[in-house]
Amino acid sequence: MSAPLNPSESDPLAAAAGEGLYQRIFEFAPDALLVVDAEGHITLANAHSETLFGYTRSELLGQAIEKLVPARFATHHAQHRAHFKTSAHSRQMGAATELCALHKSGHEFPVDIMLSPMQADGQGLTLCVVRDITERKAAQDALERQTEELRRLHAELELLANHDGLTGLFNWRAFYEHTGQMLKIAHRRRENVTLLLLDLDHFKSINDRFGHPEGDRVLQAVAAALRETARDNDIVARHGGEEFVVAALGLSAEEGLVAAERLRAAVAAIENLKRPITVSVGVATLPPQPNKHVDPRALAELLDQADQALYVAKNNGRNQVWHYDPLGPPAQAHQTPAA
Ligand code: GH3
Ligand code: MG
Ligand code: MG
Repeated sequence: MSAPLNPSESDPLAAAAGEGLYQRIFEFAPDALLVVDAEGHITLANAHSETLFGYTRSELLGQAIEKLVPARFATHHAQHRAHFKTSAHSRQMGAATELCALHKSGHEFPVDIMLSPMQADGQGLTLCVVRDITERKAAQDALERQTEELRRLHAELELLANHDGLTGLFNWRAFYEHTGQMLKIAHRRRENVTLLLLDLDHFKSINDRFGHPEGDRVLQAVAAALRETARDNDIVARHGGEEFVVAALGLSAEEGLVAAERLRAAVAAIENLKRPITVSVGVATLPPQPNKHVDPRALAELLDQADQALYVAKNNGRNQVWHYDPLGPPAQAHQTPAA
């Protein structure tokens, strides 16, 4: 038995309907179907081609297919067409690029194009299936815009969740998280962690005398001075109210005191305030622990020790730095005259 020569021989439906069925399928397909010859001239166009491109059939037939391509792509399109002649397979055109078609009115619109090589009457032809994707693309663009907006909101939320709104420093929650990590790193490297607890001196009287907005301005200026003076790797946070906390890695107790003194001096040196501000600092150092894991209470204990040292700094006259002494009352390392 020989292979069927035309579809109607193997397809009873087609046989019943005759060749007209295939013509009607071509004519009423919901995409624009165009057949293009080896020179790039349109030899057939279906009804949807007229709707999609705005030309009548007679305006399309015999014309170069580039008539339907925006002028800036036309040369490139003709080169591609020449290349496609040598290809034997159906394929999507410009799979990785966004294709654009040109309506008679000059309006451009996005399209998907499928190309199929075919032979008819000994001639190499190409069937082009063109689908308008304006709506799909608009939906995709809207989705991309929404995704981008969600990303932006997420970043904003993350910033709000981790930073203090007034000073821009880490908030308490972020401080706990980052210092928890620092404790683990220190434990692994067998290094110290130093905690500096800073409390502004007589801050309430600034609010009382100059008003809350001036108090806020002072808090912002102090935060900036601390961030500026601390090392890049130090964790600087607003502990709440007029208290700040700094965590530093790899400092000896003496170096911790030097760092605290630098911060104290930086605050005392802030200019352009209605009244100079000073800060008292309590310092505590956690040496490497023998345990396998970091003690979950280590940070709370270190904070408590720094708080005890801060208490002494306050009671001893403020504007000074004290280090917690595990063996007895905190030993003062730096005495600085009150401003
Ligand atoms: P001390 O030297 O003993 O620390 O005295 P102080 O006045 O600094 O401490 P006190 O705890 O008596 O007062 C702290 C003040 O900080 C009271 C509170 O109104 C003020 N405060 C806390 N948070 C803010 C803030 O965000 N903005 C302003 N302007 N003031 C704040
Ligand atoms: Mg306080
Ligand atoms: Mg205070």
